[in-house]
Amino acid sequence: MSKLVSIVVPAYNEEGNIEVLASALSTLFETLPYRYELIFINDGSKDRTQEILEDLSREDHRVFYIELSRNFGHQPALKAGIDTARGDCIISMDCDLQHPPQLILEMLMKWEEGYDVVYTIRKEDKKLPYLKRKSSKAFYQFCNRISDIEMEDGTADFRLLDRKVAQIFSSMQESDLFIRGMIKWLGFKQYGIEYEPAERFSGTTKYNVKRMVGLAIRGITSFSVSPLYIAIYVGLTMSVLSFLYLPYVLYSYFMGDPTSGWSSLILTIVFFNGLTLLLLGVMGIYIGKLFVQSKNRPNYIVRTTNIKE
Ligand code: UDP
Ligand code: MG
Repeated sequence: MSKLVSIVVPAYNEEGNIEVLASALSTLFETLPYRYELIFINDGSKDRTQEILEDLSREDHRVFYIELSRNFGHQPALKAGIDTARGDCIISMDCDLQHPPQLILEMLMKWEEGYDVVYTIRKEDKKLPYLKRKSSKAFYQFCNRISDIEMEDGTADFRLLDRKVAQIFSSMQESDLFIRGMIKWLGFKQYGIEYEPAERFSGTTKYNVKRMVGLAIRGITSFSVSPLYIAIYVGLTMSVLSFLYLPYVLYSYFMGDPTSGWSSLILTIVFFNGLTLLLLGVMGIYIGKLFVQSKNRPNYIVRTTNIKE
């Protein structure tokens, strides 16, 4: 029998995209020597996504759905799909057709060549807002500088995993998911393909600035403890610098008016209180992670599914 390819697609309010994506994939696989299953994860959508999925899976026996009990977010939804997929390889992609289905061809070719992970790198999209482009670039540069794993700029959640990699990934018990980093961390033979992202077919993006910043902080703090060292270095530098300040303090004590230091005093207090709070916050993030992890809750909860074990 030919090999089975699982396509895993998280969908949050994607009623306008599901059918288009499903038919694009069905057309693509007509020309390929593979069987496929298409698994949609309905991440607590509030529109007709679930209805459409149920109808579609009745018409097409290759379409499956996993309905989560509420909106868990893109990364947990993706994990739900990877955990349940049964293929020899598993391809994750977005529902909005920004990840061109034709690229699957190239991914499968690389997989057949022996690569265990084929990930994709988004080419800089001139149509995206300037701020999003620059912030994504800066984010990756920063991540690479302070963490142990090297990630390329624009790595998307559009990738192929070999069955054995997917199984190891599924067994990882992390509550705070940052999948692109986790996959990079796993190692294996990885290959990156560049692609030109398409326009979102229907609906609007679910990522706003707040979520992007959240993802960035998660990405950094999930893979590195170097932010914790900032306090040591900053503290040390400040202590050394404070000695340089000593001559001036002595001078003004003996020669000038010692009470005339209000502005410099208030500035120092405000500055250092800000810094202390910032570094406390950094520690707080790590303590929060320990707290969440120690509860050991599942990443997602399934409400209904038509996948039979
Ligand atoms: N998504 C999800 N849960 C969420 C947010 C997004 O499952 O809470 C899905 C969404 O349906 C899409 C993918 O994740 O298939 C990427 O989302 P989006 O296109 O909004 O992000 P962008 O491409 O703008 O970064
Ligand atoms: Mg998108």
